[in-house]
Amino acid sequence: MKFNIPDYPGLQFGSIYCIGRNYAKHIEEMKSEMTEDPVVFLKPRSSIIFNGETILIPKASNNVHHEVELVLLIGSEITMVEPEDALKSVKALAVGLDITARDLQSSAKKNGLPWSLSKGFNTFAPVGNFVDYSPEIDLGQLDIMVNVNGEIRQSGNTSQMLFSCEDIISYLSKQFTLYPGDLIFTGTPQGVSPIIPGDTVNASLHNNLSLLTVYVR
Ligand code: MG
Repeated sequence: MKFNIPDYPGLQFGSIYCIGRNYAKHIEEMKSEMTEDPVVFLKPRSSIIFNGETILIPKASNNVHHEVELVLLIGSEITMVEPEDALKSVKALAVGLDITARDLQSSAKKNGLPWSLSKGFNTFAPVGNFVDYSPEIDLGQLDIMVNVNGEIRQSGNTSQMLFSCEDIISYLSKQFTLYPGDLIFTGTPQGVSPIIPGDTVNASLHNNLSLLTVYVR
């Protein structure tokens, strides 16, 4: 079944929560404003792809961007958790790409409309291999990087996040019940840029804990 999570038998992908505007320099490059609470949006799970698969540029867009992000896999059902208890619910982490049809997102924003389409096309949520979370992994000190055809486009560290993983999980759990198999994309650092057919996109998380290679067509 397409939604089975690799390496976690019996677990299927659930909701995909994404955090926007979580790195100050990315907010600057987007000419957006900081917010008091995390900006939350969702992607359909039909957008998930894995290592070796191909991002399909939709006909509707002429400007598709990569956004490299730390992705958390939730392992337990939680609601209303405080930040100090939030990391107990993290089962695993991976590097991921929040692929975005920037032109469609911009026109949705301009018209005050939801930007789900721009973020939710098939293949728009590539995720690398999952690595089990343990408290020795400091989620606030992880390098994330993406290169396109060998050229580094984004290189950041989760210490630059405005809302920490603890804050994000706590905040989400106060709006929604989180379930095992849910994913959280935690936001992207600066350097987002276009990808086009023929490109090879390589993303990595801290010392190659998680790696992702996808192609573009
Ligand atoms: Mg993003």
